[in-house]
Amino acid sequence: MDSTTAFIIVSVMMLANGSVLGLLHRDLPVNLRPAALSWQAGTLLVAFGCIFFAFEWLMPLPLTVTVANAAFLFGLVAYVWAVRRFYGLQPKLVDLVPVFIGSFTVFWFSAIHPNTKVRIIVVALAWIWLMAAAVRVLLAHRDTALSRKMLTSILIAAIGFTMARMLFYIFLPMELDFKITDNSSWMNLATPLFMTVLPVVGATAFVLMCSDQIRRQWERAASTDYLTGLANRRTLTETGAGQFKLAAERSRRLAVAVLDIDAFKAINDTYGHEFGDKALVHVADRLQAGTRKIDLVARSGGEEFVGLLNDLDLSEAEVAAERLRLSVAADPFNFAATTVPITVSVGVAVRQPDDRSFADIMRRADKALYRAKQEGRNRVELAA
Ligand code: GH3
Ligand code: MG
Ligand code: MG
Repeated sequence: MDSTTAFIIVSVMMLANGSVLGLLHRDLPVNLRPAALSWQAGTLLVAFGCIFFAFEWLMPLPLTVTVANAAFLFGLVAYVWAVRRFYGLQPKLVDLVPVFIGSFTVFWFSAIHPNTKVRIIVVALAWIWLMAAAVRVLLAHRDTALSRKMLTSILIAAIGFTMARMLFYIFLPMELDFKITDNSSWMNLATPLFMTVLPVVGATAFVLMCSDQIRRQWERAASTDYLTGLANRRTLTETGAGQFKLAAERSRRLAVAVLDIDAFKAINDTYGHEFGDKALVHVADRLQAGTRKIDLVARSGGEEFVGLLNDLDLSEAEVAAERLRLSVAADPFNFAATTVPITVSVGVAVRQPDDRSFADIMRRADKALYRAKQEGRNRVELAA
């Protein structure tokens, strides 16, 4: 196969890939669409550059190489912007610097002072600059997604290949009218194949990144409380059951504190529902700040919260609950020039040897909470 054919084939592959991405993008959540559109633009630009190379014999060399290389560089910028937008970042204009340096160099050293080596070196450096920018953004987001690591690895491999290719051409004896579509060197054939790395292989990783992010958004939505960001009732029930099982198997201690805001209806009625919502967030933050990392704080419903306190006995749990109660009471809620003292009543229970499920502990904690309310609120009561 000659490299003209190779360039035609890869262009078709890229165009097909870009179209698939175009169809897919309507199915993506709104926040991912700009990133997907940028990725698609990158693919179409690279495909356009490859088509130019495939038909370079139709045009004067300076025109082909300048347009094709500019298209590649703009395509790479589109990929960098796709990655930035994926993480909700703004595209940076500074990413255009290597595009202009690279394109101008190609024009100058093809039309004015023909020098293939300088062209190849500068373009390779511009590519490395842009791919490294994308890698930096990807590395700055240390989530566990395998797809992010995939795309990072693909980019690092592409940087490695670009460097190797640059060295190869530096040491290759070449004529002034050297063309990338000559069949004189295997590297000329490897180049069009390499061009498919981001538009085809990278696109797969990018689409996986999108689907990973959608999955994580769903998981978060299903497991956390929308208002406060705490664990929701579902997570509490699941985690509680898991910890109960573990504690029962290993004869470990497990304590539960049920906290209910006192006279919250009055706060709502006096200051409005929105104010009430903000007060709930405030209390949630106090509770989260007042517990250890190994504890779980959940909003179990309305103005009621549950703390799952690991490995505490009843008196230790009482101390912990008292600390939470005080931390809420000591920090009145302040919003829109209005300060409202907030208190919570707390019921505490621990796992007993004859408990059969997590619900058994919760029931006793609820009863203790009921007593705390009856005995005047803003207090901690222990289950019998
Ligand atoms: P007590 O001290 O006995 O717990 O009194 P209370 O007023 O806190 O209890 P009650 O159960 O009578 O009222 C709870 C109120 O919490 C009623 C409801 O409007 C309010 N509430 C529940 N969920 C939300 C919410 O998501 N946002 C707001 N703003 N209010 C909520
Ligand atoms: Mg209440
Ligand atoms: Mg309540």
